[in-house]
Formats: sequence, C-alpha cells, structure tokens
Amino acid sequence: MNNKNYKNNNFYLIYIMILIIFLTIFLYKSFFLATKKINQDLFFILLSNKKIKKVIIKHKEVANVILNNESNIEKNNIHYQFDIGDLQLFQHKFEILKNKYNLNTILDFKNTSEYTFSNFFFDYGIFLILIFLFWFFFFRKIGSSVSTGNQIFNIGKSKVKIFDEDDNIKIKFKDVAGLEEVKEEIKEIVDFLKNPLKYTKLGGKIPKGTLLIGPPGTGKTLLAKAVAGEANVPFFSLAAPEFVEMFVGVGASRVRDLFSQAKLKSPCIIFIDEIDAVGRARGKNNITGSNDERENTLNQLLTEMDGFDTNTNVIIIAATNRSDILDKALLRPGRFDRIIMVDLPELYERKEIFNVHIKKLIISENVNIDYLAKQTPGFSGADIANICNEAALIAARKEKLKIENEDFTDAIDRIIGGLEKRNKIIKPNEKKRIAYHEAGHATVSWFLKHAASLVKVTIVPRGRSLGSAWYLPEERQLTTLEQMKDEICALLGGRAAEELILKSISTGALIDLEKVTKQAKSMVVIFGLSNKIGNISYYDSSGQNEYTLTKPYSEKTANIIDKEIHNIINEEYKRAKKILKEKENKLKLLADKLLEKEVIFKEDLKKIFNQ
Ligand code: ATP
Repeated sequence: MNNKNYKNNNFYLIYIMILIIFLTIFLYKSFFLATKKINQDLFFILLSNKKIKKVIIKHKEVANVILNNESNIEKNNIHYQFDIGDLQLFQHKFEILKNKYNLNTILDFKNTSEYTFSNFFFDYGIFLILIFLFWFFFFRKIGSSVSTGNQIFNIGKSKVKIFDEDDNIKIKFKDVAGLEEVKEEIKEIVDFLKNPLKYTKLGGKIPKGTLLIGPPGTGKTLLAKAVAGEANVPFFSLAAPEFVEMFVGVGASRVRDLFSQAKLKSPCIIFIDEIDAVGRARGKNNITGSNDERENTLNQLLTEMDGFDTNTNVIIIAATNRSDILDKALLRPGRFDRIIMVDLPELYERKEIFNVHIKKLIISENVNIDYLAKQTPGFSGADIANICNEAALIAARKEKLKIENEDFTDAIDRIIGGLEKRNKIIKPNEKKRIAYHEAGHATVSWFLKHAASLVKVTIVPRGRSLGSAWYLPEERQLTTLEQMKDEICALLGGRAAEELILKSISTGALIDLEKVTKQAKSMVVIFGLSNKIGNISYYDSSGQNEYTLTKPYSEKTANIIDKEIHNIINEEYKRAKKILKEKENKLKLLADKLLEKEVIFKEDLKKIFNQ
C-alpha cells in the first residue's frame, strides 16, 4: 500500500468514527433524553401531589412540565410534555387546583420558540450535515481517482495518463533488450506517425491497432513506453481495468472520453494494458448479467475504433497475456490489424537483458553473463531484472563491495527453488536418504547420453525440496524420443538409488514422480511417441476439447494408454537401477561427499565420475 493510500484510508477511518459518534449522540438523545409524553389527567394528579415546579406553555398548545427535584432544584429540565387542548379550560382547572392545594407551581407562557439553535442542530442539523458530508466524500472519492478537472463531475472521464513531449519519457528502444523482430515491427509504428505520407502515398492505410501478446514480464509495457520515448508524440497510457467501475455506463463514457482526447492531440498513441479485462469474448459466462458493464465498454471500444479513420493518426497499442479469451471482433483487421507475439527470451536475448540490467549495478569481473543466461531458460525479462536486484541485495547482505557471480547464482537458486533452509532439523538417517536420492539423480544423469548436464548437487533444503540436483538445460526447439526417455530415467534415479542402497523407498520422490508421469503421458497422448498408440495425438490446440476433460478416445484405448504410460516408466526405472548397480561405488562416493560437504559442484563431480 503506498503512502497516499495509507493516508486516504486513515482519513476515511476518522470520517467513519466521527459519523459513528454523531449517530450515537443522536440516538442517545432520541431514546434516552426524549421528553416523555403524559396525558392531562396524570398531570393534574402530579399537580395535586405537589410534584410540579413549573409548567411552560408553548404556542398555547403544548405544556412542558418541570418536576420538583430536590437534589437538582436549579436545573429546569423538562420532564414531561402533554397537549393542553383548550387553553382556557386548562388554565381554569389549573387555578382551581393551585388554590385548593395551596401550590406554588408557576405557570409560564412562551410564545417565542424555546427551540434554540442547539436543539435544532441536534434534532435535524446533524442529519443534514451527515448527508452533506456523505455525498461530499463519496463524490470526492470517485473524483479523486480521476486525473484532472472538477472532481464531482469526472466519473465518466477516462483515467488515462498523458505523456507528451514535455514529460520526456526516458525509455528508448535501446533499453528493450532482445526482441529484435518485435522492435522492427513496433518501430514502424513510430515511423507511421512521423512520416504518414511515406506509407499512404501508394494507397496503403496505416494500421489502427497493434496487439502485443505474450507471457507476463516479457517487456510489453516496456516496449510501449519505448515507442512513446522514441515517437515524440503524445502517449495516452492506461490499464483496461480502469475503464470499468461499479457504475453502469462509466466504462463506455470513459472510452468515448479517451478517444475524444486522443483525437484532439493527434498524432498520438493510445496504450491500453491488460486489454483482456474489457476485451474478453462477449456472451460467455454471463448467466447473471454481471458482465454487462464490461460488454458495454467493449462495444464502445469497438465502435470508437471503427469510428476514427486512419487519417486521424491515432494508433492504439494494446497488451495482453490472455489472447485466447479475447473477443474475435477485437482482433479482426480494421481494429487490431497487427498482432505481435512477444515470447519468452531466447538464450542470446537473455544475455542482452542481463547486460541492460547489470549496467545499473556494481559488479565484479568474475560475473559470467553467458553462464547466467544459460542458467535461466524460461525466465522472462522481468525475472531477469528480479535476479539482478536479488543478487545486489544478497551481495549487500554479505557486505561485499561488488556483486559476484555466486551472488547471481544464489539469486537464481533462490528464485527457482525458494529460500535456503539451512537450519531445518533433519534426522541423520533422513539426511543419508536425501544424500543417496540426490546422488542417484546425479549418477544416472551423468552416464546418460541425452540428460541435461549437471551444475551442482546439494542436500541443503530449499523451498519445498530437501535437496536437489541442478542442471544446465539444453535449449532446443524439438525433443527426440531418446531425450524424453533419458529425462525420465534421470528423474527416476533418486528413487532407484534409495531402493538399491537403502532397500526401501520413501515419499521423497513425489515431485519426480509427478514430472515423470506427466512426461510419459504427454509422450503417449500428445506427441504420438508410443508404438502401441501410434501416430495419434489427442491434443487439441484450440483448447475446446481438452483431452483431460472429455476423453476423445474409447475405454479400450484408455486402457492401452494406461499400460503404455506404465511400460515407459517401468522400463526407465529398470534402466536407472541398472546404471546405478554398475556405478554403485561412484554413487556411494558421491553420497558420502554430499553428507560431508552438503553442496558439490561440477568440478568435484567430474573428479568422482571420471576416476
Ligand atoms: P505483464 O504482461 O505482466 O504486464 P509485461 O510484458 O508488460 O508484463 P513489462 O512490465 O514490460 O512486462 O516488464 C517488466 C520489467 O521486466 C520491465 O520493467 C523491465 O525491467 C524488465 N524487462 C522485461 N523485458 C525486458 C527486455 N526485453 N529488456 C529489458 N528489460 C526487460
């Protein structure tokens, strides 16, 4: 929570407390201090019993009765009230009783209102003020989230952030590492805006919209900011969820407002982040009708995109990581004409991203960017930025003057495996089992042709795991049957070693078994890599008939699939045990070394295995 939000929340807390205090006073006054109504008969009984000190007649209609209260004689609190009806009759009766019982009760007349300002304030004023305050703060709250202008009337205005030439956005294309093809496409947008004639003179139309699709953290927002930084045209930036409010019609009017503002500042760029928040396919999951507001917003967006013609020189860039759920109408040419995939970075791109982020850090000469990039397959740009930051923090914690390679590898380990738990209490026999389990993985993978190369083996608990063998995965576009089998074999090495050496197996292989089962299943059902099933894939890339939900095969085939999965895993388990039997002395050597040192790096592994 940022400071401003925190202050706002405190403010609303105080406001609610004041409201409760006022309400309590009001209720107390209404229920406990309210003057009790009596009838005239009771009044005359009290009068006869000399209980009444004073009667004040107001407006010739109502009598306020003050009792003789000995302990509090000075205070003229009104105790009872009653309607007098006919004044003359009342006066007459009063005088008779006064004389009869020799009373000194005072009869007073007040035609001018005794209803003072404070009485009025407590009876009605508080309510009026509360209502006023409620509306004031209610509209202020809505208004305060709107960027400009008179706050009460700004609900329908878009919350867009506008960056123009004066804002001087500092991000340029050089700050976006890798993504060369994407940058090429995106650079063209900058060019469209700068030299529209170059493209339109042959009759072509400038695309209206570009949709950036890719996994989280791959640099989509960064790219859009770089476009703004390079284009030197006004840049309207907002996240799609900001369109939609709890008020009906607000989203649509915000879209209208955004486009009318953009047209005024043409040529310009509109960037809509997380477009899936409004761009989700219409009519799906709308049983309750709760999505109406989002659909109205989307309809308005579609209408606006149709409405402005390409000569307006307003280009829309939108980003999402859920392209599968987007409404088809949004994706058709004429709206988002260009769809650009922003994928997870390849090895060389990761190297470049490391270089961009390392520039801001003080690093030692031993930092090996190549190695770090190899260690991080499947990492996004945001992950890499996070590693750099984490490494800086780790080095600072160790009071180093420069960040070293090991700080980066520690940061990677931490991000992949979770926090190291050196103080976790593990019994010696469990430690021995973990050592053999990890040594089993390492030994099997070392002697397999296609298994990934080992980096280190450790029995220090980290995150959910009690130990692990770290690999340097080979980056490939295709995986062969042999490679898949070797991967399964290496994964089963841990359990095989436990069985071979300790003559019993444990729950420690859970994560391995989960991976192995998924891998074997994918070989049979998805990739057509099983002889018995043949060249058939039950995979449906459209996602409409996920093979796991409704089986697109018969019971008979399901049985064959099950058998095939078992066969693959059993075969690889046997192979793992065979390797370990043959290399039992090396396995034991490695397990002993692990128990002694806890972490063993590639150099030591080489010494053990190549002896
Ligand atoms: P999301 O889909 O979750 O919104 P995104 O794709 O928009 O993510 P960004 O917000 O652009 O991702 O990236 C987050 C951070 O990751 C950036 O601020 C930057 O530090 C880093 N980053 C991502 N990609 C790159 C890259 N190609 N070069 C340099 N830094 C990058």
